[in-house]
Amino acid sequence: MTAGSRRRSHGPLLAALTALVVAVGCAAGGVGENAPQEPREPAPRQSSRPAAAPSSLEAETTRADGTTSVAEFKSDIADAVTIAERYWAAQFRTSGEQFRPISRIVPYQREGEISCAGQALPRNNAVYCSQGDFIAYDVNWSVSAFRQVGDAFVFYLLGHEYAHGIQVRLGLRANFTIQQELQADCMAGAYLGDSVRDGTLRLDAGDLDEFREGLLAVGDDPDQPWFAEGSHGTAEQRTDWFFRGYERSLDACNLR
Ligand SMILES: [Zn+2]
Repeated sequence: MTAGSRRRSHGPLLAALTALVVAVGCAAGGVGENAPQEPREPAPRQSSRPAAAPSSLEAETTRADGTTSVAEFKSDIADAVTIAERYWAAQFRTSGEQFRPISRIVPYQREGEISCAGQALPRNNAVYCSQGDFIAYDVNWSVSAFRQVGDAFVFYLLGHEYAHGIQVRLGLRANFTIQQELQADCMAGAYLGDSVRDGTLRLDAGDLDEFREGLLAVGDDPDQPWFAEGSHGTAEQRTDWFFRGYERSLDACNLR
């Protein structure tokens, strides 16, 4: 849906990508005080791309110039956060509820730099930490996923973690991790699909492939029992739930 053509080639997915297992809200935890806070507003874009109108943020998930700089990554993360905040604020408003955005989005680089519930966060991961109400992600790992899979992956990743914060706000607690995780995938899909439908986000066909590719990379090992703690679902299940939400919005996500 963007005018730009995609020129970035996709490398093979690193095995490290399969480490995108995200703890559903480490139940309690501290927040690293020294972590730089990610900017909340989209950075001004360079190049010939038209600037987004302030009243209706339009984010692109495709880079017409094919570059994959850290600056672009940061800009995408910031856009993804802004769009998620607006999206969920609108959903809450519709239900007559007060919405409180997730308080902090925290990049980290080293193991143990950030902890949640007294547990040091490992590298190659992204989490929503309910204690402290923040999202933390390994920035080096995320940038490498961004370069390998594409920029749409950043929107998925943020959308998934943001959904965990929404689950906490709504008091949604499933019996098994996998239910919580697949619901978060569905909610991430709804946030993205709805944002595309209302024109907040512009995707092109390549971005949908990037979602699929990213979801394939984060599926559980087929041998892992579904009921195991930490199970997120197979690649097939995750893809299925993401696109349920993407196509049918939040009604598909069993929020009630
Ligand atoms: Zn998760």
